[in-house]
Amino acid sequence: MSLRSLVWQLPRRVMRSFSDRRISLWVALVLLLLALLATLVWLAGRYEASQVQAELERGAADAVSDIRSGLSRNNQALLAVPAWSVSEKNWQIQAQSLLSQNREWLRMEWRDAQGLLLAHENSPLRVPAFDNATRQNALVEIQQACMRAQRLNDAAYSRSYFLPQPNGLGMEVMELCLPILRANTLLGFAVVSYSLQGLLASQLGDTYGRRNQVSFTEPDGTRLAIYGEPKRANRLFHAQQLLDLPGNTLVLRIDGRRAIPDLFPNVLTALVTAMSIALVSVLLLLVKDSRRRLKAERDLADALAFRKAMEDSLVTGLRARDLQGRITYVNPAFCQMVGLTPAELLGCSAPMPYWPPEMAGEYQQRQAVRLAGNAPPREGFESVFMRKDGSRFSVLIIEAPLINVQGQQTGWMSAFLDMSEQRKVEELSRASQERLQATARLATVGEMASLLSHELNQPLAAISSYAAGSLNLLNDASQLQREPLLGNLQMALQRIAEQAGRAGKVINSVHDFVRRRDQNRQAIAPSALISDIMPLVLLQARKLQVRVETLFEERLPQVLCDRTMVEQVLLNLARNGMQAMDHPTCARRVLTLQVRRAASNVTHGWIEFSVIDAGIGIAPEVAKQLFTPFFTTKDEGMGLGLSLCRTVVEQHGGRLEFSPHTPRGTVFRFTLPTALNA
Ligand code: ADP
Repeated sequence: MSLRSLVWQLPRRVMRSFSDRRISLWVALVLLLLALLATLVWLAGRYEASQVQAELERGAADAVSDIRSGLSRNNQALLAVPAWSVSEKNWQIQAQSLLSQNREWLRMEWRDAQGLLLAHENSPLRVPAFDNATRQNALVEIQQACMRAQRLNDAAYSRSYFLPQPNGLGMEVMELCLPILRANTLLGFAVVSYSLQGLLASQLGDTYGRRNQVSFTEPDGTRLAIYGEPKRANRLFHAQQLLDLPGNTLVLRIDGRRAIPDLFPNVLTALVTAMSIALVSVLLLLVKDSRRRLKAERDLADALAFRKAMEDSLVTGLRARDLQGRITYVNPAFCQMVGLTPAELLGCSAPMPYWPPEMAGEYQQRQAVRLAGNAPPREGFESVFMRKDGSRFSVLIIEAPLINVQGQQTGWMSAFLDMSEQRKVEELSRASQERLQATARLATVGEMASLLSHELNQPLAAISSYAAGSLNLLNDASQLQREPLLGNLQMALQRIAEQAGRAGKVINSVHDFVRRRDQNRQAIAPSALISDIMPLVLLQARKLQVRVETLFEERLPQVLCDRTMVEQVLLNLARNGMQAMDHPTCARRVLTLQVRRAASNVTHGWIEFSVIDAGIGIAPEVAKQLFTPFFTTKDEGMGLGLSLCRTVVEQHGGRLEFSPHTPRGTVFRFTLPTALNA
């Protein structure tokens, strides 16, 4: 996989791993919530069951106390029988009445103090359960109960026992023995046979028997008597309570069925369920919302990746700075341009590592102006940057304020275009143009020379032939007459004078042609002359990495000059100066163009232009021939520049001179008349 596609896929991978983690988090949350809700519902159900259980326990306790009070009421009723110790007949009537009131009683007996049966009566509500013969003598259970009753001086009960019935069934029976006392004398015992099932039916039937099954059990759980059938429902509850009677201990058990698994058994569960539904709905909404967010995030990541790809593929360098001038962002094109990595650039402030040291001061001033809030020109401006290897290159900078979404300015955004290629092309075309001009100038000079030679040839040829003729005449003087000789000589000399006059006129007409340019002179501010040539000078300065400075004296008067010619002079001198600094030994490459009032007496009222360089200087042997036409030390030089300059300056009445400059270099200075002076 290529690095590029890896970089492309990286955000997607990161996103996918994020979304995987998010999905597992969501699953965990849903599971937790479900577990919580299940626990809540289960707890609510358990609470409900415990409520039912507690209610049943309370019921069992109440039932035991009901039975106990019922039994003691029965004892009171027995004691209240006035017929004890009265006649047997009378007793039987009263016993009949009591037996018909208490359904749980099977039989009532009156026994004397020794336990012998005096009278008995069976319940009129049932088939007699007992065989009279067996009951004549007291049963073991009755004996034990009565002994205990005598000892306690109160009612006592026997242990229950099973009484088989003729129809094959049977019932559990318990005997009550109640001592009958009159004036502290034991008259005998009232013995009542209780049917345990009857006891349950009469004492608990109405209250507990309808919804539950009530029973007496032995401690091991064996049922002795049962009453009632529990309602049909899903869940069975049971509660037990001890019925501790003198002489017997029974376990009362209540079994009840309750409808627990109803969906909304009570308000609490309903509330919990409703809350659970609400929670699940909220969860669903959250999941939906999170999905939407995920989609939005994915879209955003795509948009970001697209923007990054665009920024990375741009050939225009981009750079952002904050309001303090620190770099906050650079794109790969900018890094490539200056040959520095983003880590080397981010956070940098002035002086920037890509500023050429000789320009640092100027750039710092420019940045200060920018940071003070002054917007740069919309069309951009040109500057020179330095690569990491020290080489310089031109850039076009377009700067704009960086405005955030709140509409506040947070810094400056700049776009950079590498102009070095364009500059190279411009330089090439300029050089070829210069060559063309030079050739054209040479052609003109050549033409003028041929014209001059042609024009001067005729009078000079005539002069030489007349002179030769005159000499021949003088040689032949002995043979010829004196008179015609003088006449011919006079005519020849006249012709010579005429032809010399004509040659003079040709020369004068050339001079006139040159002098005709006088008519082009105009009054112009010296600063205007300099600013006119500045673009051309800067173009070459950029190429040769030279800084150009200008110095103007204040309130300079205008000069009277042929603008084009003087500009040509300034350009020539500036070019020579910059070329003299294009040397490896030249570290400080500064060209100064200075204009001031001329100081010497001779040139008082004149303006002096100086072109100062820090180049290699002029050796004495070069200085001797400096103004000689066609003298040059350069490969592509023509050697006409300085002589032309001197001619132009002298035509204006001024002087062109040069002197060495300290610590190194040369100063060329020339003077021009002011408009006032003229
Ligand atoms: P060209 O520039 O075509 O050589 P010029 O007449 O302008 O012709 O210059 C003649 C010579 O004078 C140059 O070749 C150079 O050697 C020398 N020269 C001119 N100006 C300077 C200068 N500022 N510093 C050093 N040498 C100079």
